[in-house]
Amino acid sequence: MQLKLENAAAAAGRPVPRLLAVSKTQDATAVAELAAAGQRAFGENYVQETAAKQPALAGLGLEWHLIGHLQSNKAREAATLFDWVQTVDRIKLVTALAQHRAADRPPLNVLIQVNIDDEASKHGCEPGDVPALADAIAAQPRLRLRGLMVIPTPHPDPEQRRGAFRRTRELFDALRATHPQVDTLSMGMSDDHAIAIAEGATMVRIGTALFGARPRPA
Ligand SMILES: *Cc1c(COP(=O)(O)O)cnc(C)c1O
Repeated sequence: MQLKLENAAAAAGRPVPRLLAVSKTQDATAVAELAAAGQRAFGENYVQETAAKQPALAGLGLEWHLIGHLQSNKAREAATLFDWVQTVDRIKLVTALAQHRAADRPPLNVLIQVNIDDEASKHGCEPGDVPALADAIAAQPRLRLRGLMVIPTPHPDPEQRRGAFRRTRELFDALRATHPQVDTLSMGMSDDHAIAIAEGATMVRIGTALFGARPRPA
């Protein structure tokens, strides 16, 4: 997979992005195998599943990213289990995560999830809400604003997602102008990572292309 990312980056004349291994529905053994091969960052969609998986993997120095929707009543657990939360999309969540991030841990890394396709049914904030959310996160000492995350509308032809990636990149550039510390643009999955990389992704989230088809639907 690393080679694929390097090739996609070289073809587009872009830096090689970080690889987030999406381990939802994969058991601890599968995660440990990838960790032994040098993979450090893992993405999970559910708080409960992560809590069940982590004990067997303690001590491996893994970095855990929440990439699934987070309910406010799970913020305390999320602030404890994860090193990054990529799905922050409302002020209430900012306050709850900041309140529950322990003082003896490094600040929780946070990405703002953007609903770039303006789908009524989808999670993520509206693009116009990014500046206020970013200011709220940056004002919390227990949180560290790192950038943006996007999940474009699924479309059978990944090329149709290019516009969404491009608009998110423009939003990211604008955010960086006001918050120079942001360094992470999380976009691209197994079937569209090359397009996302060409449009400026600094982190791609890969599940099936790394682990094979998921054991059960997520
Ligand atoms: C499952 C998931 C991925 C990985 O998808 P694949 O197609 O298996 O690579 C990436 N991002 C999010 C938010 C996901 O839920």
